[in-house]
Amino acid sequence: MRIDVVSIFPEYLDPLRMALLGRAIDRGILAVDVHDLRDWTHDVHRAVDDSPYGGGPGMVMKPQVWGPCLDDVCPDDAVLVVPTPAGEPFTQRVAEELRNESHLVFACGRYEGIDQRVVDDVARRGRVRELSIGDYVLIGGEVAAIAMIESVVRLIDGVLGNAASHQQDSFSDGLLEGPSYTRPEHWRGLSVPPVLLGGDHAAITRWRHEQSLARTRARRPDLLDETGTAARRPTPPSS
Ligand code: SAM
Repeated sequence: MRIDVVSIFPEYLDPLRMALLGRAIDRGILAVDVHDLRDWTHDVHRAVDDSPYGGGPGMVMKPQVWGPCLDDVCPDDAVLVVPTPAGEPFTQRVAEELRNESHLVFACGRYEGIDQRVVDDVARRGRVRELSIGDYVLIGGEVAAIAMIESVVRLIDGVLGNAASHQQDSFSDGLLEGPSYTRPEHWRGLSVPPVLLGGDHAAITRWRHEQSLARTRARRPDLLDETGTAARRPTPPSS
């Protein structure tokens, strides 16, 4: 997969080269390129924003800068991802859809966001996803882009050491994952649930499912349907 990210703070994206993502780059599974939006400005101040039509506080990012930038960076067969609190919710299901793409381009907004015509223009020639990582407002799109990139890239075959690990994660089967434990068996007066120590794999699987359901019921009842089971069906492994 190829990922391009456009930002006025390219150094914000440095974590993309660390840990598992860095290893995926080293192994040729992933190529990441980060671009400074100001490279597409032509004025002495390298301005990327202007005051909003219709008045109001804040500034809006200029189409005359974003347009030529995306003409260069975002080919018609790529998916342009625009992080915005006004977007469709970014969920594990969306991550699973995006992992099958070969080229993603992230346009990181700042200030009050990007002039809408930039998005509408790319949508005339290609695919655009305006995505929100949650019901809160960040200062800029960089952190949202990193969150989305991490969750997409870890689903690509070969990125995680053990492919089964993401298949058992929260949301993969529509439920939250239950609690996990490691050694020692007793710690500060707290013990590992005995079922995990017995080696009865059927009992462990049953216990884990019950824990998963109980946790989902308590913390995220919105993930369950009227029968009390996961509203979302598990997705098949990657194509
Ligand atoms: N005026 C915008 C609104 O109310 O919808 C908020 C703009 S926000 C201060 C600046 C940038 O941060 C956005 O353009 C977007 O790139 C990013 N951003 C903020 N919150 C986000 C969220 N929940 N999900 C994704 N991106 C977000």
